Amino acid sequence: MEYYSRQISNLIGELSRLPSIGSKTAQRLAFHILSMPKNDVKALSDAIIEARENVRYCKKCYTLTDDELCPICKNESRNHRIIMVVENSRDLAAYEKTGKFDGVYHVLHGAISPMNGIGPADIKLKELMTRLSEEDIDEVIIATNSSLEGETTAMYISKLVKPAGIKVTRIASGVPVGGDIEYIDEVTLLRALEGRTEL
Ligand code: ZN
Repeated sequence: MEYYSRQISNLIGELSRLPSIGSKTAQRLAFHILSMPKNDVKALSDAIIEARENVRYCKKCYTLTDDELCPICKNESRNHRIIMVVENSRDLAAYEKTGKFDGVYHVLHGAISPMNGIGPADIKLKELMTRLSEEDIDEVIIATNSSLEGETTAMYISKLVKPAGIKVTRIASGVPVGGDIEYIDEVTLLRALEGRTEL
C-alpha cells in the first residue's frame, strides 16, 4: 500500500486485522473515519479503549461485563438454581433475546477441541465445577453448539456433573448440526430449549 501515506496505511492495516474485514473494507472504513468529525472519531476510539480497559469476566458466570457481577447474576428475580452453559457471551445474548429463559448462565469461552489442542483446562470448566459445588443447583442445561466440539464438550460436562447428583439436560437438536447458536432465530432456539432432554 505504498500509494497511501504512512498514517493512512497504518490505519488501514490495523482495521484489516479485525475479523471479517478484508483490505477493501478496511480502506473504506479508514476513509470513512478520516471524513468523520474529530469528536466522533474520539468517541469511537474512547469507547474501544474504555471497554477494553474495564470489561472483565463476571465473577460468577464468566460472561464479559464491566462490573464484578453481570446484570443477570445480579438480578434476584431470576432462577439461580438453573444454569445454562454456553460457549460464549454472544450465545448468551442469543438466548436472552428470546426473553423466555429466566435462569442464569455459565460461559465457557470456547469448546473442547482435541484437534485444535483445546482441552478441558483451556475453557471455564473448573470454574463451573467450583460453582456447582458451592451453590444449590437443580439443573444444568448444556447449550453448546451442535458442532463436533460442542458435542464433545457437552458429553464431557455431563460426565463431570452427573455424579454430583445434579440433573443435566442438553438442548434439542432443533439447532442444525454445526450451527452456531448466535446465528439461529429465536423460535428455533426456544424450541431447542423447550425440547431439551436429560443426559
Ligand atoms: Zn454473571
